[in-house]
Formats: sequence, C-alpha cells, structure tokens
Amino acid sequence: MSQEDTNTQPERNSQPAAEVVDAAPEATTDPNVAELAARLSQAEAQAAEYKDQWLRATADYKNFKRRADAERAGLSFEEAIFGCEKEIEFRRLEGCPSCKGSGAEPGTDPVRCPKCGGSGEMRQRAPLFNMVTVTTCDSCAGSGYVIPIPCRECRGEGRVRQSRHITVKVPAGVDSNQQIRISGEGEAGPRGGPFGNLYVALDVQPHELFLRDGNDVILELKLNVAQAALGEEVEVPTIDGSERLRIPAGTQTGQTFRLRNKGVPFLRQSGRGDQIVVSRVVVPSKLNDQQRKLFQELAHTFDPEDQSNRDEGFIGRIKDALGL
Ligand SMILES: [Zn+2]
Ligand SMILES: [Zn+2]
Repeated sequence: MSQEDTNTQPERNSQPAAEVVDAAPEATTDPNVAELAARLSQAEAQAAEYKDQWLRATADYKNFKRRADAERAGLSFEEAIFGCEKEIEFRRLEGCPSCKGSGAEPGTDPVRCPKCGGSGEMRQRAPLFNMVTVTTCDSCAGSGYVIPIPCRECRGEGRVRQSRHITVKVPAGVDSNQQIRISGEGEAGPRGGPFGNLYVALDVQPHELFLRDGNDVILELKLNVAQAALGEEVEVPTIDGSERLRIPAGTQTGQTFRLRNKGVPFLRQSGRGDQIVVSRVVVPSKLNDQQRKLFQELAHTFDPEDQSNRDEGFIGRIKDALGL
C-alpha cells in the first residue's frame, strides 16, 4: 500500500511550562563598558555552548530510542480499523523562550551585517566580461543581520528542544505504512519561523485470527470432514462480533465465503470492505474406535472408480475449462 497522509486537527492538551530566564542586562551607554560586557557575555555564551553540547549529546543518547519511537504510534488491529485517539509524547524544536526566537541574547539586538551592509548578498564584477555575479552573503546567510551576542539558551539558533504531549485523532481505516500529518505540530523554523508539520507513522499490530488485505479482512475457518461434507450453519468471528455463516454441503479446502460490509471502513469514503472466510477442511489425525468404525463403514460406500471426488489438479482444471 502506498504511503498516504491523513490530516487531523491537532488537539493541544498541554503546553510546555514557561522557562525561567535571566532578566535582560541593563543597557549601558559607555562603549568600553559595553564592549567588555559583550566580550564577557560571548565568553560565557561559549562556555555555555560547550556545556550545552555535552548535555545535548548526553540527552540525545538517552532519548535516542525514545525519540525514535516518539513519532510513531503503535495501534492494535481494532484501533486501526475503528479509529482511536492516541496520546503521543515527543521532543521538538520550539521558539526559544529566552530570546523569543531572535537568537540574540536578551537586551541585545541583531545588527546590520558588516560584510554585506545589510543587503544579504555579495556582488562581484568580473573584470573581463563586465558581468556581475550575485551570491548570498555567507556571513549572515542572506538575512542582512548578524547577532553579535548569541542567546545563551539556544546558542543563537532561536530554537530549543522541548517535550510535547498531544492527542492524535486516528481515523478509522488506517493501516501500517501510512502516516498522519498534523499541521503545525512539527518543529519551529529557525529564528522565529513557523512550525512545520508532524508526521506520525503508524505501526499496526497483527491480529491472532484476522489477516488484513487492504479493506478486506481474511479469516481462515477450519471445518471437520463432517461439516465440510454435510454442510452446516456455523458461527464465525468478525471484527463486529460473531456472525452466522451457512457452509454448503461439499465445501472444499480453499473455498471462500464473503461477508459483505464486515471489513475495514474506507478511509476517505463511506462504506466498508468485506470479510472473506477461507475454508480449510481438517482431516482428523487421530480417530477413536467409534470414529474409525464409522469411517470404515463410510469407506465401503465410496466407489473407487468415482473420479468426481478426485482433485485433478491445476492442469486438469484447465483442461476442464477448455473442454478438452
Ligand atoms: Zn534564544
Ligand atoms: Zn551579510
């Protein structure tokens, strides 16, 4: 089955708690003091960055497995068929609460990029052909601004990793290899950019009785030789509960019976698939005395020359079909 996306509305049930941050330093007018303060601040930011890198590496290692699982939702067979609500917890990049996503240490501002003068691009004139080549300024990545003192909380990125807890509405009829797209629950863009989309991959557990084939549900039904030969009305399990099914006399292994609208709901339209019951005639491997006697009696009643009870195999069936 191809990968498909399903839009569901996000339901927010918790927001990350607001972080306590240092108050913005007092602005100072003396340029020397300001420069010294900036240098100290940068040194501090550098130290904080190293510490943070180490903390992040440790946390990443610890969270590796959890994170890898976080954006996957495990569903039972029934949950995928009938839909459900799933709570998922994951970590994502969100706007840094300290610098409000700007990347600049609180109390400082981004300044015009000295390399490109704020245009965000570099123009070079080739002397020979008098051609002008325009490239994006590598100093400010085209933004026209640089951050002289990066925010200590986010190292100037404007984003920090936060854990998030949401409830995902899983619609009826989903299957493994599909994912649910939830708008605005992805990671924040850099420097106050909008949130992207979150993709939740679905892992559907197999069922012990039913096998899913797209929107159809397949059930193997074991019949004993008497049921197969004589026919019988039997109870078969379906995903809605048990249903009565009439097995005709002379049912063979591999014969199928269709229970309409007892399958999986279609994802984007009304209606449901079917349940397909596949019969399997089980010949008893042990007989008690009475059964052996009855089978022996039965054996005498069969005409050994009767070809109609023989499986003629694939070639025979083709010959039959072609009238040969
Ligand atoms: Zn920040
Ligand atoms: Zn620039």
